[in-house]
Amino acid sequence: MSNSNRLRIAVQKSGRLSDDSIALLKAIGIKLNIRDRLLIAHSTNQPIDLLRVRDDDIPGLVMDGVVDLGFIGENELEEKMLERKAAGKPFEYEVLRRLDYGGCRLSIAVPNEMDYDGIQSLEGKKVATTYPYLLERYFKEQGINAKAVMLQGSVEVAPRAGVADAICDLVSTGATLEANGLVEKDVIFRSKAVLIKRADGELSDEKETLVNRLMPRVDGVLLAKE
Ligand code: ATP
Ligand code: ZN
Repeated sequence: MSNSNRLRIAVQKSGRLSDDSIALLKAIGIKLNIRDRLLIAHSTNQPIDLLRVRDDDIPGLVMDGVVDLGFIGENELEEKMLERKAAGKPFEYEVLRRLDYGGCRLSIAVPNEMDYDGIQSLEGKKVATTYPYLLERYFKEQGINAKAVMLQGSVEVAPRAGVADAICDLVSTGATLEANGLVEKDVIFRSKAVLIKRADGELSDEKETLVNRLMPRVDGVLLAKE
């Protein structure tokens, strides 16, 4: 699969990063024929194939060299990097460009009624999150002994359900937090979407040439939007 002559690019199939990522590819002149149910989409005017997957899978696909490029949020990328590093798997990648969409922050939020005066208030507590590696790194940096409890979904209801004392989740407006009686306290990571490339030096000369030809167009699109 990775030996195909066509450049393989992973994009989120459906979610917050999908439309902007596809729009960017189109804006740099890549014609795509996307059929909703299909995992693969072929470009009709460039030797490029899109692999449409869950965003969680994209860092690993790039780091394992299954695809050549990927569009991914830095939050997910950094979390997967730490997870793979801990598991002894390849965790290298190269950031080609930081993009202008997918902006969000990973923040610690606590129940309204909790007495909170700084991160030390979480000493000995449990914090629910989908990003345990980022959160535990933050605890370590801050010298706090607290536990990250991994939840794939419904993180914001964990305190009310008695599963955790606080949460660490992605925030863009704060409306979801407020609706669940939570207040944002500490931002632990600021994220945007990035375009990444496999860093194992395995791209063929043809693919390198193609990537080098596409990047100035990406810069042109980003500049035009500023
Ligand atoms: P998938 O089905 O692909 O796993 P998902 O539910 O994990 O989708 P989305 O909610 O589509 O993912 O979010 C994808 C990425 O969008 C996030 O990892 C983050 O980088 C970015 N993002 C931007 N704003 C927000 C937000 N308010 N909440 C969550 N993610 C956001
Ligand atoms: Zn996901």
